Amino acid sequence: MQKRLVYLDYNSTTPISDEVAEEMLKYLSAGNPSSPHWSGREAREYLDSAREKIAKILQANLHEIVFNSGATEGNNNVIKGIAFYEIKRNRTPYIVSTKVEHSSVLRPLNFVVELGGKVELVNVDKYGIPDPDEFKKIIRKNGKPSLISVIHVNNETGVISPLEEIVKIAKEYDVPVHIDITQSVGKIRINLKELKVDFATFSGHKIYGPKGIGVMYVRIGSPLEPLMHGGRQEDGLRAGTQNVAGAAGIAKALELCEKEMEQEIRRLRKIQSVFENEIQKIWDVKINGHPEFRTPTTSNITFRGIEGETFLINLDLEGIAASMGSACSAESKTPSHVLLAMGLSEDDAKSSIRFSFGRFTTEDEIYYTIEKIKEILSRMKSRTK
Ligand code: PMP
Repeated sequence: MQKRLVYLDYNSTTPISDEVAEEMLKYLSAGNPSSPHWSGREAREYLDSAREKIAKILQANLHEIVFNSGATEGNNNVIKGIAFYEIKRNRTPYIVSTKVEHSSVLRPLNFVVELGGKVELVNVDKYGIPDPDEFKKIIRKNGKPSLISVIHVNNETGVISPLEEIVKIAKEYDVPVHIDITQSVGKIRINLKELKVDFATFSGHKIYGPKGIGVMYVRIGSPLEPLMHGGRQEDGLRAGTQNVAGAAGIAKALELCEKEMEQEIRRLRKIQSVFENEIQKIWDVKINGHPEFRTPTTSNITFRGIEGETFLINLDLEGIAASMGSACSAESKTPSHVLLAMGLSEDDAKSSIRFSFGRFTTEDEIYYTIEKIKEILSRMKSRTK
């Protein structure tokens, strides 16, 4: 009999939806959107139609949507692009962010420090939420930063940052704001015009779209140096022939997520609550993150006294895919910086597993997973006796 496979790692990536794949097939042989002839004009039409769809959903201007290869590129572009902008003007780049960002923000920030820039990271509380007043205190102490960069929904815990309050403070001091919306777009309604941020970044493959395509929102008039130099594509902000099929794919994927958003939130809330209720019955667990300000897609659970790595391997052997925090940090073996920032001990951080739910997760899969977890934990417990 074939082993049953359960995928509970949607924050790491999502399966591409059939409609998206079908849409992309239509554009795989599109021409070069920069060519002035019929083939190029046609490709540009496809590209701009995708751009228009995304701009409409996120309440942005057509010229503010820049296609790139994904959120890692977008985050690098915003952080380094602001730093280069400042360095070009003989100013020291100074960026304020938080301790719970994705590595594609934290590592570019380290690089900014290597370039001679300054970085301050705001702490979070035990629920993983940064205190907006901390941003104010830092600005008052050190002066106006070149940028504030904040994750919208945390990839490890699903915790939602208090963006409105942070943006309000940033605007008081006229500081540009970047938000990493990789884990929130398509799951929470986002209105970039209302939010008044300057930059936003996300990837196609977290919303049932293709890998290798992303969007960087750059508000008209916001300062930024490009990372890529070459052709004048994407209003000069991202050189290189565009991925037309990828753009059509990410636009379609976002449209589909928007269409079913409310219904999906309700469905996933039920799934998350069944999972968390059941898991508390079988082990001494701690559910990490804010009880209210958290998306229904993520349950980050500390299984006290259990070695997380071994637990994950056992889950995998049972056909259940989950993870310890970010897939991008999976090889580092160090405890999650997000959970440590929330005050968890190293041991508890190493005993924590992220289960993330999505479009194809069913309640039946959740009950099956709970049964398997019960079996694994009793095996692991008897081995440690
Ligand atoms: N930011 C966040 C919050 C993420 O979850 C991820 C993906 N784990 C990224 C950025 C990077 O996305 P990608 O790997 O698609 O470039």
